[in-house]
Amino acid sequence: MSLNVIWMIPDQMKAGLIYGPKDVRIERVDTPRPSYNEVLIKVESVGICATDVKKYTGVSSCSFPIILGHEFSGSIVSLGEKVKGYKIGDRVSANPDMPCFQCKYCVQSKFNLCTQLSVIGYGTEEIEPINGAFAQFVRVPTWNLIPLEESIGYDEATFIEPFACVIRSFEQGKVKITDNIVILGEGRIGLLHIQLANVYGVNRITVTGMIDERLEIAKKLGASDVLNVQESDPLKFIFDITEDGVDVVFDTTGNAKAAEQGIKMLAPHGRFISFAGFPKGVKIEIDPRDLHYKEIILTGSFGYGSLSDYYKAGHLIANKRIDVSKLITKVRPLEELEVGFQEIAELKSIRTIIHPNS
Ligand SMILES: [Zn+2]
Ligand SMILES: [Zn+2]
Repeated sequence: MSLNVIWMIPDQMKAGLIYGPKDVRIERVDTPRPSYNEVLIKVESVGICATDVKKYTGVSSCSFPIILGHEFSGSIVSLGEKVKGYKIGDRVSANPDMPCFQCKYCVQSKFNLCTQLSVIGYGTEEIEPINGAFAQFVRVPTWNLIPLEESIGYDEATFIEPFACVIRSFEQGKVKITDNIVILGEGRIGLLHIQLANVYGVNRITVTGMIDERLEIAKKLGASDVLNVQESDPLKFIFDITEDGVDVVFDTTGNAKAAEQGIKMLAPHGRFISFAGFPKGVKIEIDPRDLHYKEIILTGSFGYGSLSDYYKAGHLIANKRIDVSKLITKVRPLEELEVGFQEIAELKSIRTIIHPNS
């Protein structure tokens, strides 16, 4: 490491801190210093995730203040003393999860279910927040790094984390090429599900939503049918086009009514995957006879399945099997972070990307 590089890293950096619901402040804070096995990344691009917006709107909480931002990419500008295998200038993204490696789920390599899970750029009321990437620099342990292939741009690389979760979703759905699938929701995650369905080569992809403009994008990305649920009855539609329902339903809405309808759409042996989290206290009704007589499976998809999901995601994006560039609707400097949160909350942007160093 040249002294020159150390000298160029400022002692303080610009960061977007959230102090509580609707309270975002751009401040100067100390630039983090990487310890033994950590690197310092200059953040080139960071996407706003629905979970960030939930902290902003107050739907979910954590101990404030915190620098959010867990879907990021950038280049390494400083190395801890013991770092091996990475050098200054390497382009990277990251798996933001920091499991405890001790609980009973970690022992079984089910890291997404870790009972003490910490996440870079995220926090809950129970778990200590770790500062993330809505800042000029972020500190990341080497075992969290995902090296970027040459053909993937920084903005595209911000999709590696959410897309790894979509890969998990399909594995939970045990998707087969002959399957008819329904994707509830036409947001960024729903649209990523369409693109992965194309890679799988499923038989028919039906997408439901409420925003015509997004449903048009869904169609362009490969949806066989799109349906605005405010204008048409999705259950009637599904049973008009199929004999006895569909094989897999992915719920990317976290909406109780949509989920109840989605479960009713299932054919015998159908699988319902709850991708989006529901707000606390929400209840849904199901007909238990469907569990017995149709042997339907109800499950969820939370985070990623294994580290390889990140590499698969990076590779599918790098070789353009998944085209994420069409989903980027806004690019903003860090100073406009709050505007970014607002536009995602108000469904005015599918994907807002922040460039903290622009
Ligand atoms: Zn996310
Ligand atoms: Zn654990």
